[in-house]
This record gives sequence, structure tokens and C-alpha cells, in this order.
Amino acid sequence: MQTNSQWLTILSVSLGAAALVGCADLSKSTQKRGQIIVRPFGLAPDGSDVNLYTLRNVKGAEVGICNYGGLVIFLKVPDRSGKLADVVLGYDNLPDYIRDTPYFGALIGRYGNRIAKGKFTLDGKEYTLAVNNGPNALHGGLKGFDKVVWEARFLASLEGPSLELLYVSKDGEEGYPGTLSVKAVYTLTDDNALKLEYTATTDKDTVVNLTHHSYFNLAGRGDILNHQVMLPADKFTPVDSTLIPTGELKPVDGTPFDFRTPTAIGARIGQEDEQLKFGGGYDHNWVINKQTGQLTRMARVYEPTSGRVMEVWSTEPGLQFYSGNFLDGKNTGKGGWVYKFRNGFCMEPQHYPDSPNHPDFPSVVLKPAQTYRNTIIYKFSVQ
Ligand code: BGC
Repeated sequence: MQTNSQWLTILSVSLGAAALVGCADLSKSTQKRGQIIVRPFGLAPDGSDVNLYTLRNVKGAEVGICNYGGLVIFLKVPDRSGKLADVVLGYDNLPDYIRDTPYFGALIGRYGNRIAKGKFTLDGKEYTLAVNNGPNALHGGLKGFDKVVWEARFLASLEGPSLELLYVSKDGEEGYPGTLSVKAVYTLTDDNALKLEYTATTDKDTVVNLTHHSYFNLAGRGDILNHQVMLPADKFTPVDSTLIPTGELKPVDGTPFDFRTPTAIGARIGQEDEQLKFGGGYDHNWVINKQTGQLTRMARVYEPTSGRVMEVWSTEPGLQFYSGNFLDGKNTGKGGWVYKFRNGFCMEPQHYPDSPNHPDFPSVVLKPAQTYRNTIIYKFSVQ
């Protein structure tokens, strides 16, 4: 238990104990397990207080979440000898996230990934979004869900320590129609899984595509090229040179995009291939073999030196696998690690990029009578 003078000790956690700063030993209550430790993490650009919430499970694994941007600041899981290491990239402090981040650990919304030319039509009306990535809109705009302050609450959970983040995105915010009320529940389960459960409702037809943007490195250092990836996908969505899907669902057969059997990220990333050229490596959406809405395993990643394994499960139809091609040494992160080319990779379960402009893709439209639901699980073990 922390003894820092800024921290207070509280004996139990109740639902809605949002503003508490301290440490909650959940084992003292009858059903809840693990610990939640809260400490101040600085001020958001609008002057609001931001906290860092550390969820620690019964096995000692830890995740640090901050209510600015719903950012996962650290995630410590054991290697094959039981040694914990932080397996996500990021910074030690909030000002660095505010100054310059390639979406390290971020909760992405209202629309994850790209919308071509920042335009889409819904119910006959054209909407215009900020163009913030070449000619396209990326990750929810200039001030997406990764840059807003979320209301935080502890939650009772039988699975492990849990934190709920709430945000209401106004009608017209970043150009999107409809007031969107979003809830994101983060749970660190007793079996070392970080479970994210997103739900949202709207008062007007809108488009929604939420995802999570941690950059993983299961060795906790170096590049990610020896990580072995398995993706159960027969097809992917090829892109144009601005990374907008062409609309085709292309078989992975005979291409460097075939990860149906475990393959090192670096094995084919340097091949002469137009799609790899457009992405600067892997930066594509895989069409996972599954029934719509089913919670299935979307990826398995194994890092041979540490023995760490990460499985990605989700209800979403697609998975953006991004091999950190835009990391270029300009961001110095936790413990002074200079994040170089391909030092981390993202696995972002989502609907396909630019879906609002592709009527053939699974729909991202949310209507007032509906509830958007998306579960993403990053489950850690060793081999
Ligand atoms: C995109 C990349 C982008 C990265 C950081 C990923 O989701 O696919 O193209 O560079 O996010 O912005």
C-alpha cells in the first residue's frame, strides 16, 4: 500500500466513489478482488484535475489508467519466469501526452481510423470532419476521445478491479451528429486480462467506431520484429496510398498479409509489395473469420525471449494491425526509452476504416433506439 502523503487510505470502495484519492484494498470487501490505487496525475489543458488509477489484480499484475483520454499509461504482466515488465509504450507524465503523442494507450473515438477526405453522408446529409491525416480524418478529429477528460468511477466486479469512465460527446462535436453518451469499463481480471467494455447511446443517428490504441512490446524493449503473430483472417482490406480502403476484401493467400499460421512480424515486412509500401509496413485492417458480433479470438502474439503471449479477443469484425511504422525516435518515453521505428505495435479491434463511405462494409451507424456495444480483451499468459 502506498504511503505517499498525497494518498489517503480508504477501507472499501463503493460504486460512484469517483473523486476519491487513495488506495482501496478490495479484498476487504466480500466479493470484490484486487486493489485500486488513485493518485493525482496533473492537469488537463482545460484545468481539470486528472488522476492515475492503478488496478492491481490478485496476481500482482497492474494497469495504470488515466481519465484524460482513457489512456493506458502502463501495463505490467509477468514473463515466463514470473518477472513483471511494462508491455506498453507511453510516457511517465501527463504533460508529455498532452504535448505530443501518436495515440499511446488511447481510447479512440468517436470514429477510430480514417474517414476519406473527412466527409460522409448520413440520412441524406453530408457531414464534414477536420482533416488531420494527409487528406483524411483520423481517430475522431482534432480533439478526439483521446484528448478529453472522462468522469471516473470505481465499479464492483467479480472478475477483478474495475474502473468505469464516462463521457458525453455533444451533438456536432468534431463534426459528428448526435449527443453520444459513452461508457468505457476497464477491468483487470484475475487471469491477467485487460478487458475493455464500451457502450454508447445517441439522441440522433450517428456513426461510432471506438477502439483502443496501446502500442505493445511484449519484451518491454527493442523492436517488435521477432514477435510472432497469428491472425485468423482469410481476407484484409487493401488501401490506397492515403490508407483508405479500396473497398475490396482481398484474400491473404500468397501475400505477406497471411498470418493464419504464426509468423514473425519481421519475416516478410520488407518484401516488395504495394500494400506494404503504402503502409510503410503493416497498417491494415484484417477481416476476421467470424460471425457478426461474436466475441472471438482475433489475434495471438508470442514474444520468444520473454515467453509472453497476448491474445486479443473482441466482438468487432475487423482488426487494425499497425506495426509502429511512424515511430521515428522523436518520442522519448518511460524510463528514457527513445521510441524508434517499429518499437511497438497496435492491435485495434474495430469496424473497417472508412465504413461510413462503404455501404458494403458492416454498418457503423448508431440510432437512438440502439446501444452500441464493443468488448475488447487483451489476455496475457506465457509459453
Ligand atoms: C493507424 C496508423 C496511425 C496510427 C497512429 C493507427 O491506428 O492505422 O496509420 O499512424 O494509428 O496515428
